[in-house]
Amino acid sequence: MRMKVVLATHNPHKVAEFQQIVAQTRPDLEIVGYDGPEPIEDGVTFAENALIKARAAAEHTGLAALADDSGICVDVLGGSPGVFSAYWAGQKKDAVANLELLLDQLRDIADPHRSAHFTSVIALVLPGGTEHVVEGAWPGRLAHAPSGGGGFGYDPIFIPEGQPAGAERSVGEYSDEEKQAQSHRARAFAELAPLLAEV
Ligand code: IMP
Repeated sequence: MRMKVVLATHNPHKVAEFQQIVAQTRPDLEIVGYDGPEPIEDGVTFAENALIKARAAAEHTGLAALADDSGICVDVLGGSPGVFSAYWAGQKKDAVANLELLLDQLRDIADPHRSAHFTSVIALVLPGGTEHVVEGAWPGRLAHAPSGGGGFGYDPIFIPEGQPAGAERSVGEYSDEEKQAQSHRARAFAELAPLLAEV
């Protein structure tokens, strides 16, 4: 029987990405969705918000719970949008409006100053109350215009580091497999995998 871990998110993109990452790395785990009450995310760091979500799901389900809090951090903006990534253009959480606002803010900024990274912080809360927090970062820079229809959120304007010159693509142009092999979420999960042995 596979061990059950509840994923404390209502974001279907994150559920799909976690299921792909776990299938590739820990097929003995069964990731189940969470449909309980959503806590208010009033933390000011990724770690605080990830813990708020994971604790709520662990308490509601009695299962081991994991939660990701993530976002894009732009160096020239001092790390913003950061924890405000989901609602950078307002509380309606419009992904297209968010990325358009970010592009507009950086309109006159040249490539060498467009560095950014995605961050994912994952909290794991075990039924006995033990808590773990891990972090993954994916460095790159902001594009000047969106490209590709894959992924979600800021993927169409994020160009990961380490691509061949002249053939760089945004994450919006990546396949699901490519993204899940390199992403901030996959990097954080790789840190978490050994700790899941306790489940
Ligand atoms: P959270 O659900 O409160 O953690 O908000 C995360 C927000 O960060 C999302 O709504 C996206 O705007 C952004 N984000 C996080 N991870 C990704 C990703 O993998 N691709 C694109 N945007 C992301």
